[in-house]
Amino acid sequence: MVETKVLKIKDLYNDSLEYPCEVLKSGNLVAFPTETVYGLGALATNPEAVRKIFEVKGRPQDNPLIVHLSSIDQIKDFAFMEERYMKVINKLTPGPITFVLKKKDNIPYEVTAGLDTVGIRIPAHPIAQRLARCAGPIAAPSANLSGRPSPTDAKSVIEDLNGLVDCIIDAGESAFGIESTIVDLTKDKPLILRPGPITIEELNDIFAEFGGVDYYEPKKEERPIAPGMKYRHYAPEKPIRLVNREELANLVNTNVLILCTLETQKDILQGAENIYIIGEYSRPYTIAQNLYRSLRYIDKSPYLEAVIEKFPEEGLFFSIMNRLKKAVSKK
Ligand code: AMP
Ligand code: MG
Repeated sequence: MVETKVLKIKDLYNDSLEYPCEVLKSGNLVAFPTETVYGLGALATNPEAVRKIFEVKGRPQDNPLIVHLSSIDQIKDFAFMEERYMKVINKLTPGPITFVLKKKDNIPYEVTAGLDTVGIRIPAHPIAQRLARCAGPIAAPSANLSGRPSPTDAKSVIEDLNGLVDCIIDAGESAFGIESTIVDLTKDKPLILRPGPITIEELNDIFAEFGGVDYYEPKKEERPIAPGMKYRHYAPEKPIRLVNREELANLVNTNVLILCTLETQKDILQGAENIYIIGEYSRPYTIAQNLYRSLRYIDKSPYLEAVIEKFPEEGLFFSIMNRLKKAVSKK
């Protein structure tokens, strides 16, 4: 056990980050906010430090980490980037998107789980950017224990990692609430490995001159391209399942917790007490923002099981459903 210092941020641009920066430079771990979810960071060029991430999270060894940089000019220092993609990367960066590129030698295999490629992201969150600027490239997965829902506020990080890391930076709630979109740019055509805040529809537009993007669905038997895809993720302890909107009415005032949108509650579940609102159907980003907090709430609630409203798989709902399907999967 270590003593975890929680550093509460009031001013994103001016509060001192000297302490977390020193922790990273000395080879230890810092949990920090990004605009997607909170990350658990180690200096990417320090293999010892990177190994600590896997130990602390209980993360499977074959699941690579994303490297966070402070600016786009740094990408060439750590990875090979095709000239043809420069314009598009500029457009999408900084932001909630990760590019998989051929790695350079200064990225240790501890970061990439033995792969020759590395996931690179330039987060838009000022704290994440400032931290990477002062400490160096930061390898970071989500700051949860493996298998648990990702943390979107410092409270959730503390639930999982108090006593296990030196510093947790608290800068409020994450804006997007789900992990970055991952695009593999090492293939002939851009390949989406994980849907996220930037939707497939948007990427098809942005990558139009390259014929749009492909979407990668891992098949059961093969080793997935994005190794993290095969694990059960984001899961509460209690049993949960996805249920069509119309069928939720059968569960009113039973001992099953219903996670649904505000619209569904108003339209068909009025008077139900066993309800937890996860956001607004007409504003899907509110559902993404609340998704992991809602999944964490299931285990805290008095109910023995939970059901979640099923959504049509398009736009941001496609990314939301990707996470929900993993949360309910038995694996
Ligand atoms: P997390 O940050 O916890 O969401 O995990 C990072 C995710 O990025 C994992 O699911 C990895 O599979 C994926 N990832 C990271 N680096 C690579 C890479 N070089 N190739 C493919 N996927 C990657
Ligand atoms: Mg994760």
